[in-house]
Amino acid sequence: MEKAFPIKIGLEIHGYLDTCEKLFCMCKTDFLDAKPNSLVCPICTGQPGSKPMAPNSDAIKKMIQIALVFGSKINYSNIIWQRKHYNWADLPKGYQTTISGMHATTNATSGKFKGINLTELHLEEDPAQWNPDSGKINYNRSGLPLIEIVTEPEFSDAEQVIEWLKSLLLSLSYIKAVRKNAGIKVDVNVSTYGERVEMKNLNSLEKIRKAIGYEILRQVENHDKGIVQTRDTLAFDEKSGKTIKMRSKEGAADYRFIPDPDLSMIKIDKKIVNKIKSGLPEMPEVKLSRLLKKYKVGEKDAKILTKNLELVEFFEELVNHCIDTVKNMSWVTIELLRVLNYNKKTLEDDDVEILPSHLAELIKMVESGKITVLKGKQIMNDFVPKSFSLAEHKGEISNIDDSAIENLCKQVISENVHVVDEYKSGKVASLNFLIGQVMRLSERRADYKETTKILKKILGGSE
Ligand SMILES: [Zn+2]
Repeated sequence: MEKAFPIKIGLEIHGYLDTCEKLFCMCKTDFLDAKPNSLVCPICTGQPGSKPMAPNSDAIKKMIQIALVFGSKINYSNIIWQRKHYNWADLPKGYQTTISGMHATTNATSGKFKGINLTELHLEEDPAQWNPDSGKINYNRSGLPLIEIVTEPEFSDAEQVIEWLKSLLLSLSYIKAVRKNAGIKVDVNVSTYGERVEMKNLNSLEKIRKAIGYEILRQVENHDKGIVQTRDTLAFDEKSGKTIKMRSKEGAADYRFIPDPDLSMIKIDKKIVNKIKSGLPEMPEVKLSRLLKKYKVGEKDAKILTKNLELVEFFEELVNHCIDTVKNMSWVTIELLRVLNYNKKTLEDDDVEILPSHLAELIKMVESGKITVLKGKQIMNDFVPKSFSLAEHKGEISNIDDSAIENLCKQVISENVHVVDEYKSGKVASLNFLIGQVMRLSERRADYKETTKILKKILGGSE
């Protein structure tokens, strides 16, 4: 029997640290909605004579938070900024400033996340954005603080990588360390039989999945043909779904790392690290276990909630409003998510303001029978982007009384004679249509059970 082939996959993950300003200048960082080249200055466009400012202390703090979450060993001294040289249109200075390189002391070493060992992590600046088709360069990203996380080559397939990366992003979102929606850039190393190859700059989970799948297959096929794999750097072409060789080991990039004479050594204060450590928020697993044990939330719902920090925090606040949250869970995990998705919004959007106290009010009114479930759902539709107190709208939303229901039933019966005939001739489902009409006319303020009862009574049906 042939021995299973040894797949080893390692990752270098680059994430955008969530800071207000860039790493070495005071330019703002919200590049996602900004006009091209609107967040720039002489420093981040690498103009002659410009010197970097002292590194952004927020970026250093976020790096420490990330290192602590992984249990990495933080280096406190001898951390020297390096110039990593290469010539490319996205790099006006001719070098990238980074805490990495052949002999550099990185920001942190070792650490572990979900069974995968980490090699190291470090800070560096992002290059600009170069469009190879138009030749235009957008410097908004130039100088943004990045965290690079390097794993040991311990993954063995694409699915494992994707699930791990999803968990990683979730944990990083809990500490609010990495910019939401900015995406990640991942370099993926894959080795099977021969030397490892590196696939550069994969910027979505889908691309990572496809690239790994393609590369494993290609290497195994080459092995069967007797082709020996050399240490290559590849690019993944999305259109063809194939990897393309950029350079081989012989042509490996020589980055000519040198210490940056314009920047002083970083010294990390242990007291600051301890302070950050004591202020770290709960991680998803801790929240999940509390939801299961303390609040008795079902496992499926608990997983939905913990997938999103804002949602789980919303739920925990709702618990404080004396709601039977287990019984009423669907108002959060189904209804709230339904209206948010419908409006293409999330709880973290700036213009969204939904208060748990308002939802608690709504749930209590439904539970006490003051409003129908349907009316409650309709009100939820109006809760996005801003929720409101129901107390002020009581008269317009409360259930209507039985005599009002009866009047509406009579009206619906007289307006839908043929449906009534169908029902009387045995088509039971026709009753649902009539109930629906009463609901619509009452603006969902007619109680469902009462409506059914009254309709049946008028139509002469049995209970
Ligand atoms: Zn700048």
